[in-house]
Amino acid sequence: MKKLMHLFVLIFLVACQSNGIVLKTRNVKTLDTDFSKGRLGLEHSITLEDLEKFHGHMCDGLVVGYQALSEVFKLLYPNEPVDRTNTRIVSKSSPCLTDAAIYLTGGRYQFNTFYVFEGIQGLFVVQRIDTEKTVMVTMNQGVKPKEIDRLGSLAVKGELNSCQLDELKSMEDDFSEFLLKTNPAENFKVSELSDFQWKPVLKNDFIKTDILNKYSPLCDH
Ligand SMILES: [Zn+2]
Repeated sequence: MKKLMHLFVLIFLVACQSNGIVLKTRNVKTLDTDFSKGRLGLEHSITLEDLEKFHGHMCDGLVVGYQALSEVFKLLYPNEPVDRTNTRIVSKSSPCLTDAAIYLTGGRYQFNTFYVFEGIQGLFVVQRIDTEKTVMVTMNQGVKPKEIDRLGSLAVKGELNSCQLDELKSMEDDFSEFLLKTNPAENFKVSELSDFQWKPVLKNDFIKTDILNKYSPLCDH
């Protein structure tokens, strides 16, 4: 009986995977140097939860950033770890996307490997420095419920009450869950750019939208 159960579980898992359903997001494998003056070769395996600790909370934007970049890495580093000494990135300004960008690629503004530019198409433009291969990643139309963006912009203007904020959170959580259950290849498109110009800009007046409602009282019903 036990063996039969195991067989059913196995068949279920194989069926899920062939349907493109991923039960768990794949970790991002990275490559770094091994000390302050060290050689390349140290590997890490970075989970979505690791990124959450760096960012401060779990949110749909973090899942979007993590999965979009996972798709990018398949093209820039096929079957090899992401070399965080060899990657540079341009990100949209969202607090979640920028954190995903610098944590997963190792890009930093002060070393000319990261900047924020709202004018890019899509979410990120990522470049492998040794080959100069450059890709852009976008989220497919219709993947993200429009209601989340509509309520999100009201929240940024301080126009949602406490209970509406909770509703928005639950919509975002549902969207995250949907993303985590779906094969990212179905939701994100990665395309190669042949004429991309790396033009770093320094700008420090973006609004950190995820702290604007930090003193909103709790919803009492
Ligand atoms: Zn966030």
